[in-house]
Amino acid sequence: MNFSAEKASRKWPCAGLACGERPMVTVAAILLMLCAQAAPAAAARKSGAWSPGASSELSRERGPKLSRTALPASVPLPKARPAEAPAAEPDKSGARKQSPGEPTEQAAPAAPPPPSACRLALTEEIAIAPSIPDIHGPGDCGGEDLVRLEAIVLPDKHRVSVKPAAILRCRMASAIADWIRTDMAPLAASLGSVISDLDNFDSFECRGRNRMVGGRLSEHGRANALDVRSLKLANGQSISLIDRTVSRSLRESALHSACARFSTVLGPGSDGYHEDHIHLDLMERRNNYKICQWEVWDPLPQIAPLLPAPRPEEAPPREVAAKSDATNSDAAKSEPAKSDAARSDTSEPDAGDIRPPAKKRRQNRRF
Ligand SMILES: [Zn+2]
Repeated sequence: MNFSAEKASRKWPCAGLACGERPMVTVAAILLMLCAQAAPAAAARKSGAWSPGASSELSRERGPKLSRTALPASVPLPKARPAEAPAAEPDKSGARKQSPGEPTEQAAPAAPPPPSACRLALTEEIAIAPSIPDIHGPGDCGGEDLVRLEAIVLPDKHRVSVKPAAILRCRMASAIADWIRTDMAPLAASLGSVISDLDNFDSFECRGRNRMVGGRLSEHGRANALDVRSLKLANGQSISLIDRTVSRSLRESALHSACARFSTVLGPGSDGYHEDHIHLDLMERRNNYKICQWEVWDPLPQIAPLLPAPRPEEAPPREVAAKSDATNSDAAKSEPAKSDAARSDTSEPDAGDIRPPAKKRRQNRRF
């Protein structure tokens, strides 16, 4: 396109001296001057200060400055990946990251927990103790890793039946088995026999201590305790742990071995609730504190020491024999020897004087 003054005059009509080449050149010169002044002024507004070389700086930095103004100055920008860096490997793990809003996959049914170390160790070489489901409640009662201790297998393969079978935590069942196998079986062997039965007086039972309603939960309620009365031997004998007539040394051996293995041992003489059985449990206390309370009583005397000897037949008749009981009583105070002799003549000694005191049944008050 030709922008000569001649052609331009056809587009912008003029008149007189205003038309022609000179006016057009003048206008073009004015426009160029205005443009040359406008560019430095704009650069000065952006930088806030005017400098003579601002026009050249502006020509180099205008592009980058325009792109950075969209981001805050404090946001760190990642460094450009160097050209010599190896290519990024794709994620080969196969694990797919789940976005927060993505719905979860259908949960698979919970697998049973793996057997405990106790369960793995309590083999049929040691005890017949199948696992049973966990017990939860009522209240705090129950436990996990439970077994039904049916029998203990002695090292010589003899079986000690637990009658009735005891519901216990595996750890407690294992402790009972070790106690019978290691400590009690040799005691039975010293009597020339083997243990055939363990008299289980109580195992798991959801109740308070000593059957107190509202009392602290007994270890029986946690399947962590066993009450034992006796061990039956294959030869028909029985080792009653609370029987005064059983060998004292044997009962003391049972006491010491039990107190070494269990954290609580309660027997006769402990608190009045354990006169007819031995309570064993593995209650965990601070600093492994243990309770071992079991009195090994001496046998009761078979003959009352104060009973008078029978009056010999050749003894002369006693003058006081015909007197009243009241007189006998007076005579007893003044002449004890005569009184004793008279009593032996007139009446048989009361059987209650020589029998051991009847044992009170405390089955309803157990730990
Ligand atoms: Zn008990």
